[in-house]
Formats: sequence, C-alpha cells, structure tokens
Amino acid sequence: MFEDLQRKTVLITGASSGLGAGFAEIFARHGARLALAARRVEKLEALQRKLVEGGAEVQVVELDVTDENSVEAAVNAVVPNIDILVNNAGVATFGRSLEISASDWDKTLDTNLRGLFLVAQAVARRMERGGTGGSIVNISSITALRASRGLAAYSASKAAASHLTKCLALDWAVHDIRVNALCPGYIETEMNAGFFETPEGLALIARTPMKKIGKIADLEGPLLLLASDAGRHITGIDLPVDGGHLVSSL
Ligand code: NAD
Repeated sequence: MFEDLQRKTVLITGASSGLGAGFAEIFARHGARLALAARRVEKLEALQRKLVEGGAEVQVVELDVTDENSVEAAVNAVVPNIDILVNNAGVATFGRSLEISASDWDKTLDTNLRGLFLVAQAVARRMERGGTGGSIVNISSITALRASRGLAAYSASKAAASHLTKCLALDWAVHDIRVNALCPGYIETEMNAGFFETPEGLALIARTPMKKIGKIADLEGPLLLLASDAGRHITGIDLPVDGGHLVSSL
C-alpha cells in the first residue's frame, strides 16, 4: 500500500520527542529516508542512532522554526531532495483567556502558525524547483475545529494552521504539491501519560465516544494516507483522528 515511501525522503520537524519521534519510527519502518529536524540536536542524534541500527537512512538537521534563517538553512541542508514534509513542531500553552500574556500568545502563534508557514514555504520552493511535486502534512489538532476551555491561543493557532493548509493546497496544486492537515485528538505520549490517570484525564476519556485515549500507532494509517501516494488525489483537507471526540454529545 505505501511502497512509494521506499523511494521518498521525509523531513519531520519537532522530531526530538513525542509525536514527531513516533512519526520518524513509522516512516523508518516503511523504508523512507529521513531528515529529522528540531532544536535539540543531541536528542535527534540519539533517535538517529536507534533508527540507523534498524537499517534506516537518517540525517539530522538543527532547526528553530521561529527563525527564518534557521528554516532556510535546515531545508537547504536536506539531501538529496524532500518529497514529504511532516510539519509537526509545535508548542501548547494553557491558561484562562483573561490571563494569557502577550509573550505566550506570540510564542504560540510564532511556532504553530508563522513557523509552520515558513517551513512549508521553504520546502514547497524546493519541491517547485525540483519539479517532482510532493506532500505536506501539517500537524493541526481537533482544537482547530471546536473550542476547548483554557486553550484559546493554541486553538486559534491550530485553526489558522488548518485554514492555511487549505490556502496552500489551492496555491500549490499547480506544482503537484498536496497540502493536508492531520488533526489528532488527545494522544498519549511520554510527556502527558500521567495526565490520563488523573481525575481530569479520566473525565476527558469518559467524554470521548470511543472511551479511550489515542496512541501514536492510531495515527499511522491516517498519516501515511496523507503523506504517500495512497492519498494522491487528496489535498486541502482536515483529517481528525480522535476516537469520535469531535462528535461528542452537546
Ligand atoms: P512535544 O512537545 O513532545 O513535541 C513538540 C516538538 O516540537 C518538540 O520536539 C519540540 O522541541 C519541537 N519544537 C517546539 N518549538 C520548536 C521550534 N521553535 N523549532 C523547532 N522545533 C520546535 O509535543 P507533541 O505532543 O509530540 O506535539 C507534536 C505536534 O502534535 C504539535 O504540533 C502538537 O500541537 C500536535 N498535537 C499533539 C497532540 C497530543 O495529544 N500529543 C494532539 C493534537 C496535536
């Protein structure tokens, strides 16, 4: 089904932890060549060693998505070309809307929206020059699609990222570049695992129609659908993967 990935190079931003590291393992298993990008190079190198031991071809590039020079340098450093971008780097800020600071607002929007755009643009320019097209998967969130208490800045950044996805899909279809958004619900990673054992975490799971929290493995099929030739006629969509959380009862 995803055989084309064996001929592809995938750039993953924010690959030093959480979903990004999990996505790297998924693509490695499907035989793709990888470029792992983030600010914490030593964490990327540890993941690189593990994936190379498993037989993957892996490159590490330092990247701060909020710095346009860093974006330009990182995207140009990937060899031999970039067929797929997983635009995953992001930050989450929580807090009552009355209390969000201007600096938290800026950090959230700078990373999740401006940074996501800068990386997509730099990669699309390379894809356009190469003339071979490509696929961009922006990691959005179900908070792009419904309001969630205490997450105003984060949700606004993700809603904008989802809308940007549609605009870029429209603009870049002529270059055979597909742009889609994957919108995960709550996914368990090393960093948030403890939360889902707290009363608030258990209440959240109880409100989800399928009554379970997502795992990175639950994103594999949807991610590969958008990234690979399996999704060759799909562009400009939001694909929620959330155990039905978005259709929970009002
Ligand atoms: P995480 O904090 O483990 O991963 C975020 C990654 O982005 C880290 O590697 C971090 O270093 C990197 N990053 C942050 N700022 C950066 C910058 N300026 N430049 C380069 N890299 C930067 O969190 P995660 O849960 O794995 O989140 C990954 C993505 O998935 C985010 O975009 C997040 O909004 C989205 N998401 C996560 C969930 C979830 O439940 N875990 C649900 C929906 C969406």
